Amino acid sequence: MHKGKINVQTENIFPIIKKFLYSDHEIFLREIVSNAVDATQKLKTLASTGEFKGELGDLTIDIVLDKEAKTLSVRDRGIGMTKDEVEKYINQIAFSSAEEFVEKFKTKTEAESNAIIGHFGLGFYSAFMVSDKVNLETKSFKTEDNKASKWECDGSPEYSLEEIELEERGTKVTMHIDEENVNFLEEQNVLELLKKYCSFLPVQIRFGKEKYYENDENEKDENGNPKQIEKERERIINNPFPLWKKTPADCKDENYKSFYRELYPMTFEEPLFHIHLNVDYPFNLTGILYFPKVNNNIEVQKNKIQLYCNQVFVTDSVEGIVPQFLTLLHGVIDSPDIPLNVSRSYLQSDSNVKKISGYIMKKVSDKLEELFKKDREAFEKKWDDIRVFIDYGMCTEEKFFDRAKKFYLFKNTEGQYFTIEEYKKHTEDLQKDKNNQVIYLYTNNVDEQHSFIQIARERGYDVLLMNNVLDSHLINTLEQKLENTRFARVDSNTIDKLIEKDLDNISKLDDSQKESLKGIIENNIEDKSFMVEFANLGENEMPMQIMRPEFMRRMKDMNALSGGMGFGNMPESFQLIINSNSPICEKILNEDNEETQKQTIKHIFDLAKLSQNLLKGEDLTNFIKRNMDQV
Ligand code: ADP
Repeated sequence: MHKGKINVQTENIFPIIKKFLYSDHEIFLREIVSNAVDATQKLKTLASTGEFKGELGDLTIDIVLDKEAKTLSVRDRGIGMTKDEVEKYINQIAFSSAEEFVEKFKTKTEAESNAIIGHFGLGFYSAFMVSDKVNLETKSFKTEDNKASKWECDGSPEYSLEEIELEERGTKVTMHIDEENVNFLEEQNVLELLKKYCSFLPVQIRFGKEKYYENDENEKDENGNPKQIEKERERIINNPFPLWKKTPADCKDENYKSFYRELYPMTFEEPLFHIHLNVDYPFNLTGILYFPKVNNNIEVQKNKIQLYCNQVFVTDSVEGIVPQFLTLLHGVIDSPDIPLNVSRSYLQSDSNVKKISGYIMKKVSDKLEELFKKDREAFEKKWDDIRVFIDYGMCTEEKFFDRAKKFYLFKNTEGQYFTIEEYKKHTEDLQKDKNNQVIYLYTNNVDEQHSFIQIARERGYDVLLMNNVLDSHLINTLEQKLENTRFARVDSNTIDKLIEKDLDNISKLDDSQKESLKGIIENNIEDKSFMVEFANLGENEMPMQIMRPEFMRRMKDMNALSGGMGFGNMPESFQLIINSNSPICEKILNEDNEETQKQTIKHIFDLAKLSQNLLKGEDLTNFIKRNMDQV
């Protein structure tokens, strides 16, 4: 046996590894298993080039848990290592990167050192995060007899390396789990880790045995059904050939659906459609993205995309790698070209990451455009479910807006869909005001704003349905992008003020009559948040209407969305529009009995409130009572 001291100038690195990798120490298993996978893949490559001529045999990697011995081991039948190779790869290379890490770490704060940690793949040495002793038994594929090596290290810079006999080719790493990490000796915990990190590793991985049940056709229970018998089989934890690695042309719709269920066993809704990503230049990337039904609660849907590097799970937080709005998608992205071991702030400035993010965005918009062009009817059917997603993209990514312009759909209150271009044509004649600006009328609540929508429709105007969470943002974006176009909610002014035409209607009341009517009304309405104004509407239109000015309301909406203070705290102000052409105006002016005058004003005021959903409580009760008395 040969003993040696690992050549480290700095103090013992193990306490540092333990201390600073602590928060993420579960990755040790991923590191050790990926080494086993690499060694197996290398052997397969050597076999395919003829450099390895022996039998490959069963290449399954075994994870073995021995609770009594307190060990967890990973065994592969890959290339293995000769004694010299252990010296070279385990002692020198691995340690030098660990040592470099310690050097860098010395002068840094804890936060900075966390960023550095990821930068040095401590790989094999991450086993020491959870073990007080690690040994490695290995026999190289080049060795013809039983000569093999055993390396052992107990977490001090001293290691031992001895010659042993092994029949089988490959490497077995045994981790003696320490007191603090006994949770890694629980089968269930290990299984969960394997599922998380190793589900799609390219080499079959076995972890003990599992129970399953089978029908026994010979034995029946009292109801005449076949009896269930308990059986045991080897537990394979991964699918080495995940769908995203296949050629898109070889995949059927059903394959995509069942792969979705494999990824999200707890999600019952089917995805709306998918995009298969597959590029090898100028970077390497494969993956499948799914469009889920996006509902109005955006936050809960985020972070469902899993990021892999050569089928090794890395993270399910892809912010910084894909544009923010795409984090609403589900699925997998696999790329060896994303620098995974660096901090997130670095990621955003990395040119490869930028290219990847741009590529994914282009793919997503291409797919949407293709669906729109191929079958518009089907696209319209899905529209309500994907709209939030598209709104989000258009509000946050300029480039996406430019692409989405072609397939973004406006929906009106009649349930018709229009592209931006089509809607322009649809409205530009009739809804142009005297300043040549086209006004897009919209509602965010068909029931509450029903009477206003009716009035607009009677004029022949179109009313859009904008009732999505992000619509108030999108309206601002659209106003910046579309020329000569303004949005106005149907209830934000009288229809003639919303779309002002040149022809000024004649007022039946002269200025002094207006002045005195204004005085009478103000005297009879105690609430000072209403500002009285006149409009020359049709004789048969409502005598009094309540409007919420567009600007103030938008500010409040935006504020509510961002959860902030400020405008949200401002009292609401309303316009009280008096129709100077309504015969009721004259009636009020000519009425001598003050009580009757008061009652008339009260009644038309209540009606105005009612159509804006503002008549509540005692006022509503009294209103109903008054009306009942008339029946
Ligand atoms: P990395 O995998 O990033 O190179 P590691 O510290 O994980 O770094 O491993 C160092 C080296 O040890 C590997 O490059 C490989 O040559 C060797 N090695 C580790 N595990 C195995 C294994 N299971 N079989 C063969 N060689 C291995």
